[in-house]
Amino acid sequence: MFLRELNAPLESVRGAGEKIAVSLARSGIGNVAALLTHYPRDWEDRTRAVPLRDWRLGPVCTTVKVLAHDWFGFGAMKTLKVHVEDQSARAALVCFNRPFLARQLVIGESCRLWGKFYYKYGELQATVFEIEGEGESASSRFGGILPVYPLSADLSRVPSRGQNLLRRLVKQALNQYASSIDDEIPAPLAKNLLRKADAVRAIHFPSSAKELEQARQTLIFEELFYLEVMVGKRALERRPAGVHKGRPAAENAPGPEAARLSPLQEDLLKRLPFSLTPGQREAVAEINRDMDGPGAMARLLQGDVGSGKTLVAFLAALRAVDESLLSGGGRARPGGAGQAAIMAPTELLARQHAENAALLLEPLGLRPAFLTGNLKARGRSRLLAALADGEVDIVLGTHALFSKDVVYRNLRLVVVDEQHRFGVTQRQAILAKGETSLLGGGAPHLIMMSATPIPRTLALTVFGDLDVSLIADMPPGRKPVKTHLAKESNAKKVYDFVRGELEAGRQAYFVYPLIGGEETDGMEESGTENSRNLKDAVGMAGKLQKIFPSFPVALIHSRLDDEQKRETMEAFRRGTVKILAATSVVEVGVDVPNASCMVVHHAERFGLSALHQLRGRVGRGGEQAYCFLVYSGEEAGPALSEDGKRRLKVMLESNDGFVIAEEDLKLRGPGQIAGIEQSGYLRLGIADPVRDADVLLAARKEAFAMLENDPGLLLPENRVVAEVLERASPFTEVGM
Ligand code: ADP
Ligand code: MG
Repeated sequence: MFLRELNAPLESVRGAGEKIAVSLARSGIGNVAALLTHYPRDWEDRTRAVPLRDWRLGPVCTTVKVLAHDWFGFGAMKTLKVHVEDQSARAALVCFNRPFLARQLVIGESCRLWGKFYYKYGELQATVFEIEGEGESASSRFGGILPVYPLSADLSRVPSRGQNLLRRLVKQALNQYASSIDDEIPAPLAKNLLRKADAVRAIHFPSSAKELEQARQTLIFEELFYLEVMVGKRALERRPAGVHKGRPAAENAPGPEAARLSPLQEDLLKRLPFSLTPGQREAVAEINRDMDGPGAMARLLQGDVGSGKTLVAFLAALRAVDESLLSGGGRARPGGAGQAAIMAPTELLARQHAENAALLLEPLGLRPAFLTGNLKARGRSRLLAALADGEVDIVLGTHALFSKDVVYRNLRLVVVDEQHRFGVTQRQAILAKGETSLLGGGAPHLIMMSATPIPRTLALTVFGDLDVSLIADMPPGRKPVKTHLAKESNAKKVYDFVRGELEAGRQAYFVYPLIGGEETDGMEESGTENSRNLKDAVGMAGKLQKIFPSFPVALIHSRLDDEQKRETMEAFRRGTVKILAATSVVEVGVDVPNASCMVVHHAERFGLSALHQLRGRVGRGGEQAYCFLVYSGEEAGPALSEDGKRRLKVMLESNDGFVIAEEDLKLRGPGQIAGIEQSGYLRLGIADPVRDADVLLAARKEAFAMLENDPGLLLPENRVVAEVLERASPFTEVGM
């Protein structure tokens, strides 16, 4: 039997009564398999003696002699204190709620002691400890490596007993069931691994540190192997065999052949005042090749801020519109062509895309349209009709593009810009739109664009079934943004510098962590910290106008209505507004090449990816651009945290989005990376894709190689892995 098939009820484990079973079930441990896969979060090594004198080195594990009993407190609160000593020191055991220990710990006798000691009131004390009489036969509790389990609130009310309960039950369950656990992983992979039964036994009760490590490696490998089998299968289902040629999707090296450009693509490129960067050209070639090939494309397009992803998206859209024209031979009536939808996370960004589309694509004879949730009834129904009729080829907008009442005639491509801003459910709604296109063309091609580079390990897990294009270069002539740190008290120097830039005709952003104004509680970034001394956008807009009297200042933040936002951005883009006082609404995607200064106040409060995005708003023209990270000292609340310092240092030292993303991962832990929070992708059983990245890669290689030979490779019903993929993959429920 496989471990996961051990679905015998907990009551079948000797010593587990109904009450215990109920309380474990409440913690998600409903049967024997769940109990045995409730892996320890840590282990206590009680094989090595740690005398009292070494209490600082970790839990003490020693033999002590009982010296005296002491009672303190009164009545029901009366508490026993037992004085003990070993060869190295004396100490006191404080026995809260355990008066019965007076009978067990007889003065003058010796016992084995394990406990966590601290120094208090001039003596060594422990309240968390375990004892065992010396005469008792050495039980499991001493002289071994003991598991420490994660405990639910329910189980942890009595700490040592919750642990001991689980230890006892797991031990018993192993005795009853371990021998019936069969190996699961395909035999060729098992040679460096423990047998599954041994691994499960040893993960709970290892006989040595070495065996524990082997057990961990075995279980981690197995888990990651099946994760990757699942990921690989999805990729295969989406794309018939052969497309990946056995190479993991995320590692698909771009082939040398540049896929032919479609007529509309050629048209656009001819009209551009610049040519594509090699990275852009490669990405377009990959996209074209995918769209030529069988099945639906699913591609993650990564490129640092400013690398020119929008243009690639437009070219992909042209290819989608061209797709049916090509097969029809020559240029057919545009109404019969495919449609593309480009979705952005904010109205601001969607509008910017729409304006660019109008500028670049209308001259080619295309009909782009703009759709957001704010469109008024009449305009909206007219637009919806045009989408259903195929009168619109390319639609740009927010997630309103995928509301229930939007029907496409022939949606062939969906581009999700800044994909990390969207949740999984939204992605599902998007893909479902292709299925319900009037022409019934099936799942559309999908491009997800991300300027928050996704660290490799994440790309291989969460996005493991996507192909990846990477634009690794920048349009020529870009000079790296010069970054400076400045203390808030030196802000005047920053203002002086910015004044120079303004006088030279450039523009500047000033970004604040708060909106401000009447409703001072309005944080743009959610947060609860004391914000009394923080500068805010509303308040500073007025001050900036006084500091720079001859340069028009405008204000932008999320509380403004969309019309105001649009007008402000438009004025800034035209250059009638020179200074934008903003919150992080300008963080994503906004493109104003003439802006050369980005000043971020209270920079220590922004996350690394936000700072990188903000800095990416400048340096988009040919001129040298500057980013000032102004940090505050104690006057604005708690002193600069260590993490805050690290972040600023990283920003100072690197311009590379990938380096910054890796640092972010280190600083915040993988669960926090933008957009990944809600996916909970990391909650695997025992493996951690980031910590175990090497194992992940090895497992992935094996999984993909095996799938190559046997696409029907048996997939265990691994609940944890399945749940992780449910949450993380964009392809669930749409049958791709
Ligand atoms: P991002 O990848 O951050 O979304 P954008 O698509 O906003 O970047 O592009 C940034 C700027 O670079 C835009 O002003 C765009 O017109 C310009 N751009 C894009 N591709 C090129 C290129 N090949 N050569 C010169 N400028 C380019
Ligand atoms: Mg962009």
